[in-house]
Amino acid sequence: TTAATPLSSLSADDLASRLDDARADYKALQARGLVLDLTRGKPGPDQLDLSEGLLRLPTGHKDSAGVDVRNYGGLEGLTEMRAIFADLLGVDVTNVVCGGNSSLTMMHQVLTALLLKGGPDSPRPWSQEPVVKFVCPVPGYDRHFTMLAEFGIEMLTVPMTPDGPDPVAVRALVADDPTVKGMWIVPTYSNPTGAVCSAEVAAELMAMPTAAPDFRILWDNAYAVHHLTERETKSADALGLAVASGHPNRPIMFASTSKITFAGAGVAALAASTDNKAWYLERLSLASIGPDKVNHLRHVEFFGTADGVRTHMRKHRDLLAPKFEAVDAALSARLGGLGIAEWVAPTGGYFVNLDVMDGTASRVVTLAKEAGIALTPAGAAFPHSKDPNDRNIRLAPSFPALEEVELAMAGVAVCVELAALEKLTS
Ligand code: PLP
Repeated sequence: TTAATPLSSLSADDLASRLDDARADYKALQARGLVLDLTRGKPGPDQLDLSEGLLRLPTGHKDSAGVDVRNYGGLEGLTEMRAIFADLLGVDVTNVVCGGNSSLTMMHQVLTALLLKGGPDSPRPWSQEPVVKFVCPVPGYDRHFTMLAEFGIEMLTVPMTPDGPDPVAVRALVADDPTVKGMWIVPTYSNPTGAVCSAEVAAELMAMPTAAPDFRILWDNAYAVHHLTERETKSADALGLAVASGHPNRPIMFASTSKITFAGAGVAALAASTDNKAWYLERLSLASIGPDKVNHLRHVEFFGTADGVRTHMRKHRDLLAPKFEAVDAALSARLGGLGIAEWVAPTGGYFVNLDVMDGTASRVVTLAKEAGIALTPAGAAFPHSKDPNDRNIRLAPSFPALEEVELAMAGVAVCVELAALEKLTS
């Protein structure tokens, strides 16, 4: 047998001897006493170093309009910072709000306000509905799902395709049920599959009829400019498409510089229709007198323009691309052609989505753990952490050094094969 023979076509004897080999490889892996971690989707120290200059900024304390950034005020954020996000997100500056360091916090604020107050076009606050449901493309971002779970919002899953959420499945869920109030989407280089929502799918999502008059698409463009190749894919124009189809208030867009500058001290942004933005600022005005404009100015001085951000992101790409190539190389070397695992080399973002043989993902994670390789718990990318097929594993290669990614992934490949062989011979 060669490495390229699908395991399912092997005889019982061949499978048994292959299992012996995989067990021996696994034992050798354990004997190495590795301590490696592929769980954290955060920038590596070398990436953070790219923004070290921020720590010596700002040099002044006024923006170009003369606003003293040290003082209170300016709830929607510094105009020049808003202009940078507007350019990167392909929206008008008047639609943008810049806030604190976390876009996740802005998503939480929006959801909380929709529940307690309702949106501009809500018949009543969402919390007064008998039940609230959300469409959740899977696999997806675990924190989106835990936020909904915290609020008791029911999650209806739809498959994530390479072009975005399956629009036919979404349409079927939202058309007749007015309690389906919204959906999540990570449109560009999605967490974790790396899928990019096409302009066609985006247009369908913005135009589709919904039974809820206040249906919201929470458009979390966390990886809008996080390209891993020279092809710098543009995100679909969510706000423009929504206006064109007569649903201007449907999308609310989020982004941040968490994986551009400092993950803990970046700038977050929200972009939405005039009505949504006014509604958001009205709520926000009760919670804050203004954002950290010093940090806004620091970022404005550091980047100058949106092109400054694009240039900076190419430096991230140079550090990250080899790690993603190492993941693909390790998986291909051991698992290519075996028919027991599928993955796509992403063209951007922070993750590699690995689908192993059905019913073996938890076993792979356990095997890896017992060999000193920490992986994100199986099922993490599904609502309530339940992957119905126990097949999905999210790999995060950004944080460890390149050699560590290589070592860890060679080990993961052993675990994937061993788990599959255990299952095939049981
Ligand atoms: N949205 C997605 C899809 C993410 O993957 C992450 C971080 O992993 C975030 C949001 C967090 O964003 P922030 O740091 O701006 O709160």
